[in-house]
Amino acid sequence: MNILVLNCGSSSLKYQLIDSETENVLAKGLCERIGIDGRLKHEPTGGEKFVSENPLPDHTAAVQAVIDALLDAEHGVIKSVSEIHAVGHRVVHGGEYFAGSVLINDDVKKALEVCSDLAPLHNPANLIGIAACEKLMPGIPQVGVFDTAFHQTMPEKAYLYAIPYKYYEKYKIRKYGFHGTSHKYVSLECAKMMDMPIEELKIVTCHLGNGGSICAVRNGISVDTSMGFTPLDGIAMGTRSGSVDPAAVLYLMKKEGLSVDEMDRILNKESGVLGISGVSSDFRDIEAAETEGNERAATALDTFSYRVAKTIGEYVAAMKGVDAIVFTAGLGENSATTRQVICDYLRYLGIHLDSYKNSLRGQAVEITTRQSRVPVFVIPTNEELMIARDTKEIVENLKK
Ligand code: ADP
Repeated sequence: MNILVLNCGSSSLKYQLIDSETENVLAKGLCERIGIDGRLKHEPTGGEKFVSENPLPDHTAAVQAVIDALLDAEHGVIKSVSEIHAVGHRVVHGGEYFAGSVLINDDVKKALEVCSDLAPLHNPANLIGIAACEKLMPGIPQVGVFDTAFHQTMPEKAYLYAIPYKYYEKYKIRKYGFHGTSHKYVSLECAKMMDMPIEELKIVTCHLGNGGSICAVRNGISVDTSMGFTPLDGIAMGTRSGSVDPAAVLYLMKKEGLSVDEMDRILNKESGVLGISGVSSDFRDIEAAETEGNERAATALDTFSYRVAKTIGEYVAAMKGVDAIVFTAGLGENSATTRQVICDYLRYLGIHLDSYKNSLRGQAVEITTRQSRVPVFVIPTNEELMIARDTKEIVENLKK
């Protein structure tokens, strides 16, 4: 079964066509600048990349451009649209409605509209992407895979904030958590690498990219995670503050006469390691600045690693133990130094890194020595594959 995996943003659309039997990617690409001018970068596996700059006025035009690229005589990988058997959408927010992936129908779309209030930057784009596919590929089953779904197993004590309960009832203000597809994927892969049933493991997964979150996965389910009501909470990130005393936010708004939107921008776009270092939100730039002696860059990296290590400690406590720790995403997969610094804090758990293994790149690998009491892994995340797997399962069940 060929599954088109789509990740629709407000002005971008990432895609992969995956053969779900072999789990091979047949082609992948990205539409950018939708609604501005338009650019499509397409990469057939084993073939030549190509870029087209035709206008993409809206998401329907972008989905059409993706279909055209997949069918292209020179760069395409399929001969007819009927070779796309299902579409899997990455959807950011499923609220309390979805604890797993679902076949998209009218009820699901209505629920997604309600959730748009909780994710105003993301869910509307997902809905537009779904409508575009319905128009251009009528009758092809579409599945929604939610960033929040994996965390719906969190107990009340983990997801409730200590504010008046009526606000949870009235507005559903609670911790939702994000990056669920990634946390689920790497925890499953970790269990495979350990050759253990996931139902018997306590794993802390660290998704460290531009955005970052940490998750406590006990017996295969999420029991706590660091992002909250929105992806702003938790550890410090590229440009996001992570958790801050809410009173500091109120104080700053008063002192600087900031509007809600201005404060929102500061916390989401001007904070994190960018805010502390004043250098960049990209960890490579900050690491380079630190090497050149920039003290604030060093402080930003120290603060980041310290908070990650503390959060791992929290989750070890939450699960009353830990059997494995996993690093994933751009920084988690690529920065040996960051992993080293974080794992130094974790020596009390009997963790010992193997510096050679920690220096390896681009593969799933255990990076601890044999003597380490808790193994630590680097596992490249693959959210698209997880979406394709869920989509395949749901579509196959339809036929039964
Ligand atoms: P997202 O999907 O959240 O945009 P990614 O998972 O692609 O983010 O991660 C991007 C982050 O990973 C960037 O901040 C980048 O600096 C960091 N990163 C990627 N490669 C390296 C590297 N070799 N060393 C340090 N940081 C890296």
